Order: sequence, then structure tokens, then C-alpha cells
Amino acid sequence: MKLQGLTVSQAHQGLLKKEFSSVELCQSYLDRIKEKNEEIFAFLSINEETAIKQAKEVDDIINKGNDLPLLAGIPCAVKDNIMVEGLKCTAASKILENYIAPYQATVIKKLRKEKAVILGKTNLDEFAMGASGENSAFGPTKNPCDSSRVTGGSSSGSAAAVAADMAVFALGSDTAGSIRYPASFCGIVGLKPTYGAVSRFGLIAMASSLDQIGPLTKNIDDCQIVFEAIRGKDGMDSTSVDMRVKSQGMKIKDLKIGVPKEYFIKGVDKEVERIIREAIKRYEAMGAKIMEVSLPHTDYAIATYYIIMPCEISANLARYDGIKYGYQNKEAGDLMQVYLKSRGKGLGDEVRRRIILGTYALSSGYYDAYYLKAQKVRTLIRQDFEKVFEKVDVLMTPVSPITAFKLGEKIEDPLQMYLCDIFTGPISLAGLPAISLPVGKIGELPVGLQIIGKPFEEDKILEISKLYGND
Ligand code: GLN
Repeated sequence: MKLQGLTVSQAHQGLLKKEFSSVELCQSYLDRIKEKNEEIFAFLSINEETAIKQAKEVDDIINKGNDLPLLAGIPCAVKDNIMVEGLKCTAASKILENYIAPYQATVIKKLRKEKAVILGKTNLDEFAMGASGENSAFGPTKNPCDSSRVTGGSSSGSAAAVAADMAVFALGSDTAGSIRYPASFCGIVGLKPTYGAVSRFGLIAMASSLDQIGPLTKNIDDCQIVFEAIRGKDGMDSTSVDMRVKSQGMKIKDLKIGVPKEYFIKGVDKEVERIIREAIKRYEAMGAKIMEVSLPHTDYAIATYYIIMPCEISANLARYDGIKYGYQNKEAGDLMQVYLKSRGKGLGDEVRRRIILGTYALSSGYYDAYYLKAQKVRTLIRQDFEKVFEKVDVLMTPVSPITAFKLGEKIEDPLQMYLCDIFTGPISLAGLPAISLPVGKIGELPVGLQIIGKPFEEDKILEISKLYGND
């Protein structure tokens, strides 16, 4: 039986009505992975035996006639920087090539509590550093819409797995665009929650003041279901909170949408701009009020992000020393050589570049000029958003100025790659929630609309997204 392209609700209904068993559903997705993974390379590891075991447990629940949680038996994929106890967790890095997760990330605990079935771990830019998916130490993921193109990164495998029907939904992580960017390039829905809305416990840290876990799904209903399952305060992550702003009864006629002029600039592909403006017009036609607004510090966001993020990386990645974790270079002589050779050989170019930049920016004498200054500008960027949110309910922008680019096109030019974050980075610096919604295509290549909300107003973002149409 071929069961593919299902949404969470369709799969759930099918299980409830016994149109198929949980094992059949799981097997069908595993078969699809076998058929497609060689070409797309969405998965780094496949969890076949355990997935079938997890699916059998769900069949037992169904056969006993017990209540079935919405995610029970739903086959999903998990970015390989999120710990699933007992499975490899590589962060797509050679330094963690054989590392087995010793405990369960909180988001996984929550998914497993609902009895979701974990098919496997997905590819990413090494330690989530990248915008194209090409920084994986194990090879790039290819875009299911056009396999000569990138998926967008860093949650490349998670986006591709959902877009190519190799999983019903996936978890990714977003530091400055890594959920929204690949969602936009692959034509699916991706939500970056407010900083603190989802526990980061068990997520391999990149830049801790920015990282957030979130869902990548086929439609908005699924996004809501998965977000609902993973959100909330967790004793293991002191930055997590239980906060939600309810949005029931929102009337489109009262909705004020801000369109920041700094997001419609030279360099944005003309067709992308047209599709985004048309999507915004659709809201206008429904009765929403559209207002042009300004976020004057937008220009500084990339520079600010590329100071703060490497500083946090240089601290977070100090733990990979060839002693505590993963790969150790055996030829090294003394202790210093163990550090240097293990890190030198275990970590890829982009990771080392960022560690060097961060170490430099944090060093005595430079700290004030770089890190401290960047933190001050970060505050200004956040205040820009606070100010416009006094006037509007949400902001609408493109996720990316361009559609999926060719594999290899930008990989030799890190600065070009960094510019990809231009419309997603500022939102992360401000800690805000944002969704990528597929709203059109240029040829085969999808375009994502970004809807940015006030802190903890994910419910409103999702409701507004649904007004556009759920699919
Ligand atoms: N493209 C950005 C970077 O390279 C964002 C990555 C992310 O969100 N994890 O840092």
C-alpha cells in the first residue's frame, strides 16, 4: 500500500478509521525514503527497526480501542542536531560522526509522549551553520523541486524530507533563518517560534541566544499541531517559558499588516517581489489594512548577527576538544596537539572560520569594539520592531530575496552566503516568531511569504496564515 503525501490530520483519520495500520503507514514512508534518499540525501540515518517498533505500539493502542493522540503513529523526521536517545547525533560534522545521543531532547520526549514515530535523522549544514545545506560534512541535500538546486539551510534535510513526502512532518532549528529559509525554497510551511517558546534542551547549541526548534510541515494545520505538541516551559531550559497570547475571534477587518520598506529593496528578485506583493494584496482584498512601515536599523542586522553568532559559537564549540566528545586525532603527540589536530580535522571550514572570528571578536581589547557594540545594535534592532508593533499586528516580507539557487553557486563565497539571512536574521536577533508560507512559484521554484508576529503570538500568525489558505 502506498501512503504518501499525507498531512497529520489525514494520517490520523486513516489510522482511526483503520484504513491502514500504523506499521503500514510507517513502512510506506520507509519505502519512500529508500526510493528517494540516494538522490535527495535528506536523511543522514534511518531508524528502521525502532520506527517499526514504535508503529507497532500505536497499532496496539488502536486495537485496544484506546484514545489516540493526534501525533500517534505519524512518521516524522528530526534534524540531526536534536538528540534522540540511542541514535547517532552528528550535527553533520565529522567530529561527531559516531556520537550516540545519551539522552532525549525535550521536544523528542514530547513527541514520543504523543507516540509519534521517528523515521530518522536529517541532514543539515554542519552545526546548523549555513544557508544552503551545502556545509554538511557528508554532502549536500538536493532540492526536491529541482535537484540541481540547494534546499536552503540549515534545516535542509528536514525541509526536503517533508517536501519529497519522505516524512509527514519534521523538526528543524532556526538561528537566523534555518527553518524559514529551506521551507521557502522547498515550498512548505516552517515556523520559527518566539525565543523561549520551545525548550532547547537536547539541541546541539550553535548560538544559544538565537537558537529555536520549530516544525516544518505540509500545511498550517500540521504546523499548529506540531507546535502545540512541542511548546512550553521546561525545567531543563531556563530560557523556556509558558506564554501564549490567544488570538481567538480575530477579525480580518481589524487586522493591520505592516510592510517594512527595507525589505523591498534593490537585489530582491522582481518576480519574488511581485508574488509577495500579490500575497499581501490578497489580505487587503479580505479587508485587512496594509501600512508601509520602517525598520531603520535593518541594514545593520547582518553585521550584528555575524558578530554575536560567532562569539557564541566560539564559546559553545569549545567543548569539542577531542577529549570529551567524538573524534580524536590519534597521531597527535601532546595534549595541545590533540586539541589542535582533533578540532582541525574534525571541524569543517565554515565552522572553523566562525570559531576564529568569534574568538577574535571576544578577545581582550576587541570585546568592546565588536561584541559589546553588536549587543547595543541588537537592542536597536529589537526596538525597531517594538515601535512598529505599536501600530500593526503583523509584518509581511519575503523570506528570501531570491529562489533556490544552484548547488555550488555561492559556496566559495561566504559573504554572499551570509547575505541570504538578510530578511530572516533581524527577526531572530529580536527573538520574534515568524512563519514561512508558500505563496507562489517561479517556474518550479517556490517563494515563501514571511509573516512576523509579536512575541508569543504564534497563534495569531497561524490564524492569519490560514486565511491565505491551508494548503
Ligand atoms: N544562515 C545563517 C547562518 O549561516 C542561519 C543559520 C541558522 O539559522 N542555523 O548562520
